[in-house]
Amino acid sequence: MSTEKALREQLVEICRRLYDKELIVATDGNVSARLGFDRFLTTPSGVCKGFLTPDMLVEADSAGQRLAGELEPSSEFGMHLAIYAVRPDVLAIVHAHPPTATAFSVAGVSLESPILTEVVLMLGAIPTTPYATPGTPEVADAVRKAASTHDAFILDHHGAVTLGRSLDEAYYRMETVEQTAKVHHLAHQLGGAIPLGSRHVAALEEIRRKMARDRAEK
Ligand SMILES: [Zn+2]
Repeated sequence: MSTEKALREQLVEICRRLYDKELIVATDGNVSARLGFDRFLTTPSGVCKGFLTPDMLVEADSAGQRLAGELEPSSEFGMHLAIYAVRPDVLAIVHAHPPTATAFSVAGVSLESPILTEVVLMLGAIPTTPYATPGTPEVADAVRKAASTHDAFILDHHGAVTLGRSLDEAYYRMETVEQTAKVHHLAHQLGGAIPLGSRHVAALEEIRRKMARDRAEK
């Protein structure tokens, strides 16, 4: 695992990229990373994540208690903890409000159909969780189920969450979610997205399972 100093710098860099790419605006979004079994680093509440400095990050335990830092942890940190509890393999979580992907849930259109080979290979699918009021325990309930089987999902009428074995992986998955929504949208304007056939999806899923087995054996 990275040293705390390196992890702090990387987390700040990921937040800057999220803001620069307009996957978050204003004080939106939150990012966290595991520092140890029961220690996490998370973004503070109420500040623009595009202009964070490493010392502004908050260290907290799995009960959400602040261990170090001047600022309050994100109001959505409970959602992150719910995910870490069901996914011990996850070392980082990104929550953002990618506009195109979020618009799909606002319009009631699912991103789950298999239209892109890379998404089936890397993420399987991008489901949408049931609506829950931000900052409430209902959000944790809604994400727990999706996170137990998926590395990326949409929060209905809200945004997206991506998980990774590193901050980079979680961040890149957020880029993939937004890119998938953009391709979906363009395909819709061209007459509609044609999902991959079940035979092709099955072949991609086999490759995905093999990649997971190879990773587990390393
Ligand atoms: Zn949010």
